[in-house]
Amino acid sequence: MAKTGGLADVAASLPGALARLGVEVRLVMPGYRQALDEVERLQVTGVLPDVLGFENVRILTGRTPDSGLPISLVDIPSLYCDGGDIYLNADGSDRSNNHVRYAVLSHVATAIALGWTDSAWVPDIVHCNDWHTGLIPLLLRSAAGRFGPATVFTVHNMAYQGSFPWSEVEAIGIPADPELRAGLEFYGNANFLKAGLAFGDMVTTVSPTYAQEIQTPEYGFGLEGVIAARDGRLVGILNGIDAEFWNPAGSPWLASQYSARNVGGKARCKRDIQRELGLRMDARAPLTVFIGRLTWQKMADVMVKAVPEMLRREPDCQFALLGQGDRALEDAFRGLTGAFPGRISINIGYSEREAHRLHAGGDILIHGSRYEPCGLTQLYAMRFGAIPIVRPVGGLADTVTDASDDAVSSGTATGFHFTGTDEDAMRAGFDRAIALYHQDLAWRRLRKAGMSCDFSWEQSAHKYLELYTDLVSRRSRAADSRSAREIA
Ligand code: ADP
Repeated sequence: MAKTGGLADVAASLPGALARLGVEVRLVMPGYRQALDEVERLQVTGVLPDVLGFENVRILTGRTPDSGLPISLVDIPSLYCDGGDIYLNADGSDRSNNHVRYAVLSHVATAIALGWTDSAWVPDIVHCNDWHTGLIPLLLRSAAGRFGPATVFTVHNMAYQGSFPWSEVEAIGIPADPELRAGLEFYGNANFLKAGLAFGDMVTTVSPTYAQEIQTPEYGFGLEGVIAARDGRLVGILNGIDAEFWNPAGSPWLASQYSARNVGGKARCKRDIQRELGLRMDARAPLTVFIGRLTWQKMADVMVKAVPEMLRREPDCQFALLGQGDRALEDAFRGLTGAFPGRISINIGYSEREAHRLHAGGDILIHGSRYEPCGLTQLYAMRFGAIPIVRPVGGLADTVTDASDDAVSSGTATGFHFTGTDEDAMRAGFDRAIALYHQDLAWRRLRKAGMSCDFSWEQSAHKYLELYTDLVSRRSRAADSRSAREIA
């Protein structure tokens, strides 16, 4: 799996959950080097003579190594195996050809969906994710109108839109139809995300609250009007987590495994991570962790001020960070270490092993976000019994129940909300969490409630299946009335 963040986790998990519900799923992705190496039993299942000037494009179909699902790769080594990564060229510079890379993917996916490469397998639904696939609903509309498969377009983050100069519109093979071009054009650019939002038969996003928020200027990143125009065709379905992999009772990387019913091992994990990171070995010290991208979205610029302030005021508190992102923020966090010996650990890097160990050893997760489509880290934290402090936006609002007095006494609280985007707001979150940490019984309740939440993919997969079923039956009703009219 080509992995860069939350979307990668989704792409790896949802198809398997759908297959378990009986959906016949097939994945399509670019033939990246890693995918060509890892997909098993690859066979040529089609050749397209010309895709935007690339000749004899082979479709290679095999099985995913983990779940054994069918997957088709678009085999154009000069486009997808040029030594760079998804967003960067081999020399580290930003890619300038992503419009071609993902337009080609979209044209090939359209051909596969219409049975042009393999007429034995034609889907009812094409489910497209993020701007990279935004041209597919447009191309399917153009090629097959209402006779083709229905499309679901899921937006995982409104900030990333795939916007390119309009002068490229011929190069990416957009038909001359004015209605189609109007759906793609946005302030003089070709905006792939807008096309997906405009032409998807259904538009989904990854939490109910985010579905509301993106209709407003604050969260719509300019496309709020396009989204609002799809009202009635927009739903929010929460992402799930891979509950087997993110499982404190099964993780191979912990000093001791544990569960909601038998949480004793968590204290050993805390000791172990304190030792590994050079933190003072103190079982009673509240240990706050952060795991994620060091970016403006994640309020890392606010955290870098709020954390030292919290450590200064609360001499027994500790803080451990695992993340990477903006260079200036990475440096600013590194710069904090000298001031708090034995109380702070800054690890600039990416490691799932360390993420597991921090969730297991941590008491508190700090997860501020300026916007958050769904957020997975807070779900992992809850599963491992680290209590999240969040700004209640998007999926954070939908998944973390604030520890109000009522919610604590009824046993439904799972974390702490803070409102606002400055240090004072975040500090108020820290203050509430640390105060409750010292109330043993209440803290254990919070931890148990979080660890008992079911955020597995099965829940979300059922909702997607309902959506697919509804779209298919609408399509067949439309086809029936069409053929009735034709007979008449
Ligand atoms: P986003 O997709 O906006 O980055 P999410 O919370 O939806 O945020 O998903 C981020 C995913 O990447 C989670 O699985 C998170 O644990 C993981 N992650 C981010 N940074 C790191 C890191 N430095 N090391 C390990 N895992 C990380």
